Amino acid sequence: MTNAAFLLVPFAIALAAVSCDGHDLPIVTGNFSVLWIQHSPIGAYPDPAFSGEPVPPAENWAAYHALGVKAYEDYVAWGAVEREPGKWDWSRQLEVAEKQRAGGLEYDPYLWIHNPPLWMRQGKLPHEPGTPDHFTMMKCLEHGEQTYTLSIWDPATLDWFERFYRQMHHALGLLIGRTYVGLVGPFGEGNYPLPVFDWLNIGHCHEGYWCGDPYALKAFQASCKKRYKRLDRLNHSWGTKFEAWNEVGFPAEIKDGKILRAEERVDPKARRRWLDFVQWYHQSIIDFAVEVTRVASKYFPVERLKMKPGGSAGGVNPIAWGTYCPGYARSVGNLKLGDTEDKVRLQPADCHGKPFGDRWYGTAYRFYGVPFSTEPAGGLDRRSFLRRVFMDACNGATEMFSYELDKHMADAIKWIHLYRGQPSITDVAIYCPTTWYWLNGDIWPAIHTADWLRDITDFEVADELLIKDGYLKKSNTRVLVWLMGPVVEREVLERIIEWVHAGGILVASVPEPPMDVEGRSDLGIYLFGSAHDQFRTLGKGLVVWRRSEPKPGDEGLRDLVYAAIYHPEKMKPGLRGAAEVDGKEDGVWTAVFNDILLLYNTSEEPKDVERTWKGQTITRHVGAGSLVEVKIE
Ligand SMILES: [Zn+2]
Repeated sequence: MTNAAFLLVPFAIALAAVSCDGHDLPIVTGNFSVLWIQHSPIGAYPDPAFSGEPVPPAENWAAYHALGVKAYEDYVAWGAVEREPGKWDWSRQLEVAEKQRAGGLEYDPYLWIHNPPLWMRQGKLPHEPGTPDHFTMMKCLEHGEQTYTLSIWDPATLDWFERFYRQMHHALGLLIGRTYVGLVGPFGEGNYPLPVFDWLNIGHCHEGYWCGDPYALKAFQASCKKRYKRLDRLNHSWGTKFEAWNEVGFPAEIKDGKILRAEERVDPKARRRWLDFVQWYHQSIIDFAVEVTRVASKYFPVERLKMKPGGSAGGVNPIAWGTYCPGYARSVGNLKLGDTEDKVRLQPADCHGKPFGDRWYGTAYRFYGVPFSTEPAGGLDRRSFLRRVFMDACNGATEMFSYELDKHMADAIKWIHLYRGQPSITDVAIYCPTTWYWLNGDIWPAIHTADWLRDITDFEVADELLIKDGYLKKSNTRVLVWLMGPVVEREVLERIIEWVHAGGILVASVPEPPMDVEGRSDLGIYLFGSAHDQFRTLGKGLVVWRRSEPKPGDEGLRDLVYAAIYHPEKMKPGLRGAAEVDGKEDGVWTAVFNDILLLYNTSEEPKDVERTWKGQTITRHVGAGSLVEVKIE
């Protein structure tokens, strides 16, 4: 998400003494026309007399282009360009496009189409052939009240969105460089409605569950029917007594306003019912994103489309937000549009250099083959910006978005060559306890512990979705670090057992072995073994289990992870360890690539570090909060 306080206003830009000789770099900024949409009829501050935010001349935009900036995104809201039914006015966008393009930028409209125009809310619909005769707003389950956001479950919403894309294509067509797949969260991102009130007037809104409209309930019932086929099977799985499919409803705890925490979900049947609901809820918004992509791609080729699937809050978002990043990666990666192999570019919104959070989506994008831009929500100081660059490079990102180019332009230009789509080399992964997350478990202790372990090893993050899709084998994962997950889908445990049997090394720090959703502990006990043995062999692999909760600073855990990654042969002869590139808890993160080695000093002190990679011993002085690149011969 963005924060208005960090907007660049392109009138009095003080150009830094940097330049890229005027060729485009994969650097994008924004956002223009924020005040304009805020003061439009659907804005948070509607003002018919508003005349602020004039369009600067081409020279102003040319100054950005001279620095290497590719695009300065322009906010466009549906209700601001169609202020009366059927009367479209694109004059502002034409002017911005003309001046930005004259300055050498591409014109990228950033879309807010999920909040319908004021006249729609007043019940006036345009009388045009092919236009839907109705619309549906999303409604919360908690209070049964509408928010001013179109329902993702009413098929008419896609028709309304298509009408917008058709009109935009007609008005701006080839002037557009790239544009967005419009979704329903704040900023058109892939979250459910959230209480962000200062951009457009969204009416009633809060964090909650927005599946209260009739189309949502019907879609949920249809998905249950598809899954269980027979009502008695559903009743058996959920412990319910529904007598007809149209009686099947959402978990009552939502309306009661108290979502149970994962550890309170002791009844396996209630657990299954909640999981069926929340997975449907998360997949619904992803499916909608895919359908909007299909609609938009009728007018704009897929390489001209970007999508913002929401962020991660530096770890994972609350489950009510619906931001299931790996799910977006999978659906977008599998989306085939016409003859092209191109995929929609994803731009998650919280890339600020948090190892677990950034790798949670970055690993999924790599695995499913999705091009990747990064964006930090809100402001970064210089060392955080460099940490973000470090993590973006590890993830194989190919484009940088920043709202703060006035602050970070010199560093952006210096480091943009690291955005080349080649992830860092690692065969270590942290397991993401996705089932526990979906059950409303607090997985932050695992996230914080993983972030702390980044000091001794690079890693990817293996979400359960990826594991079910064969990630461990296909990615040649050698070590999987398990920091949480009391309840896990059986299929995930089966996949991990299979992988350990084939030679994988599992390191776990949890008090008890996991059970499956139905409460069976056989697979967990088989995998983890007895707590009396700190490590044991299983097939060709190794299981190392420390019977304690994960926590940052736990030296015992650090030593076990270190031993498992770098010296597993000491626990099981024949296993190979990784080259000990890092392994030291010295506050300096290391990432290796075929041709370079990156160092980032997270500490408050300068460090003299020694690293060995590809037979070369490298010593470097790394300032506090600094990023250092070392070329490998
Ligand atoms: Zn409500």
